[in-house]
Amino acid sequence: MGGVTERIRYVAGGASRQDSVRCGLQSLADAPGDAVVLVHDAARPFVSVDLIERCIASAVEYGSGVAAVPVHDTIRRADENDVPVQTVDRTGLWAMQTPQAFRLDLLRRASDRAEQTGFQGTDEASLVEQLQGVRLVKGDRENIKITTSDDLRFAEQWLGGRMPEMRVGCGYDIHRLVEGRDLWLGGVKIPYDRGLDGHSDADVALHAICDALLGAAGMPDIGQLYPNTDESITGASSIGFLMDVADRLASAGWTVMNVDCTLIAERPKIGPYVSRMREKISYALKIEPARVGIKATTNEGLDDTGAGAGIACHAAACLIGCRR
Ligand code: MG
Repeated sequence: MGGVTERIRYVAGGASRQDSVRCGLQSLADAPGDAVVLVHDAARPFVSVDLIERCIASAVEYGSGVAAVPVHDTIRRADENDVPVQTVDRTGLWAMQTPQAFRLDLLRRASDRAEQTGFQGTDEASLVEQLQGVRLVKGDRENIKITTSDDLRFAEQWLGGRMPEMRVGCGYDIHRLVEGRDLWLGGVKIPYDRGLDGHSDADVALHAICDALLGAAGMPDIGQLYPNTDESITGASSIGFLMDVADRLASAGWTVMNVDCTLIAERPKIGPYVSRMREKISYALKIEPARVGIKATTNEGLDDTGAGAGIACHAAACLIGCRR
């Protein structure tokens, strides 16, 4: 808005909505008259960006854009004893919502006029109507006004339908130990006389965690995303795969709640490196280290892993996402 540089300007309100809006308008004395001002009721927390944009567009073109929905219920007028005395024809009736958007100079004039005449309106449209007709913008049924405890319960139930979706995934990987390779586990280089064999750095822990995350999100697995036929990733650091997976998840609206993995290695001892692994993995996933679990066990000498021929890893991951 021209002339107004602060992003938020706090203004004390008045005794009524009309008074509060007037206080707000007075604080905009430095804004140009052709600016668009929107009045929104804080009791309508479910307003959509789309509705706000349509109200602004209408105010730019016509001077006003007031959110409203057609009345679908039958309307009946009752006397002071709640006895119905008249059924009101609902044809052409609209229930007013907010936002109510106006050219600033128009709403200023309407507010001044109401001040002079003592007119009390229940919304800004009724003030502007003292000067000229207003333009309605089709509102949203979801843009409810929370006034009573029943409204609050309804809103909670409605929000309940939008509870974050939770997903769980699992991953597994195993690589052979061979001479002449560095040993990378959980993004940490571990001193050992052999390393894991593979196309990349063969970090089984990161590979299993990547697959658990990708599986939870229903995305293609690590073998499809980073195939061993891709020469550009020969010898690649798997922490790069994990960071790429984190980006893919974030782009799709998923938040990583936690990952957990169990390394199965007869040798070397993993324990001294666990805290550095947690740091590396939490950094790559942009989560706290407390959300990264790393355990290690041996295979008690059983099968080839138990004989020390390779290292394996099982992983699990939990994601949440706001997806309706
Ligand atoms: Mg692998």
